Amino acid sequence: MAEIKKYDVIIVGAGPAGMTAATYASRAELKTVMVDQGIYGGQMNNTAEIENYPGYNQIMGPDLSEKMYASSTQFGAEYSFGSVSGIDILDNQEKVVHTDMGDLQAPVVIIATGSEHTHLGVPGEEDYQGKGVSYCAVCDAAFFKGESVSVVGGGDSAVEEAIYLANIVKDVTVFVRGDQLRAQPILQQRAMKKENLRFVYNTSVTAIQGDGEEVQSVELVNNKTDERSTFETAGVFIYIGLKPNTTALESLGITDQQGWVQANEKMETKVPGIFAAGDVLAKELRQITTAVGDGGLAGQAAYNYIAANRSEA
Ligand code: NAP
Repeated sequence: MAEIKKYDVIIVGAGPAGMTAATYASRAELKTVMVDQGIYGGQMNNTAEIENYPGYNQIMGPDLSEKMYASSTQFGAEYSFGSVSGIDILDNQEKVVHTDMGDLQAPVVIIATGSEHTHLGVPGEEDYQGKGVSYCAVCDAAFFKGESVSVVGGGDSAVEEAIYLANIVKDVTVFVRGDQLRAQPILQQRAMKKENLRFVYNTSVTAIQGDGEEVQSVELVNNKTDERSTFETAGVFIYIGLKPNTTALESLGITDQQGWVQANEKMETKVPGIFAAGDVLAKELRQITTAVGDGGLAGQAAYNYIAANRSEA
């Protein structure tokens, strides 16, 4: 059996919350590892321009990821690939984090697994993923140069990414299920100035169709009149909200009914030694700035927890 790797702090997730927690924990001389199933940076990697992160008037998401990663590892925190399948708590309160790359053990775990884009759940969506259906304009916009694409949603993500797409593709049609946008006014105003971007309200996408190889059209329904129609489009970018990445945590009993992790203002969950930070939390505002704040608090809380337990021992 492979030897279990031991740390002071295991951080699950290496987005802005996890990376900031790693900076704080490792700077406090705790042996720290971040474990993530993908590249560090989390959703920042899917974000084009960020202009509400202090210190930068404007920065590309992947560039901010690189800078945060450099900060998070400068005091010796490690970064490790691995998909976490569960967390067990031993009798001595040590936690064992099970990953597909082996088990890790520490007295403290910080959950910073973030969230992922909700899927529409319509026919064709799964079949055409990577063939025209996308949840990442930054990753996929370039495939649609000179073509017409659609966006589904009406929040900050849909409008922000529609603007980004409009700079690259021929034209963008945003399907909004209700009669108004939820996005911040500044984003709405910018979108309205784009001549190749239009909004279609009260309209839901009910199916995504193609020739088996690529998307060709979407089926629509007008939610007021029930009128159905077909709209030709080469790509469908879906931005209809977020869901928490917490399926591996269910047995801990630290999530609410929707799956978001519940923690107090010290980032403590109800399990001693398990803290949480960032978008995975049940909270009001999911932003990079708030994730970073949570991460700092969680990293410091990890230090306080370990210091208290060492002095008791
Ligand atoms: P969101 O704010 O939850 O908005 C989801 C949008 O999708 C809403 O317009 C909603 O319509 C629509 N929607 C939900 N289910 C749908 C369905 N089945 N079919 C069609 N439309 C559907 O999600 P988000 O835009 O992904 O943003 C997530 C979080 O990140 C938010 O807190 C947001 O503020 C933040 N964010 C911030 C920035 C920024 O500050 N620059 C950028 C991106 C994201 P209804 O309005 O009808 O419910």
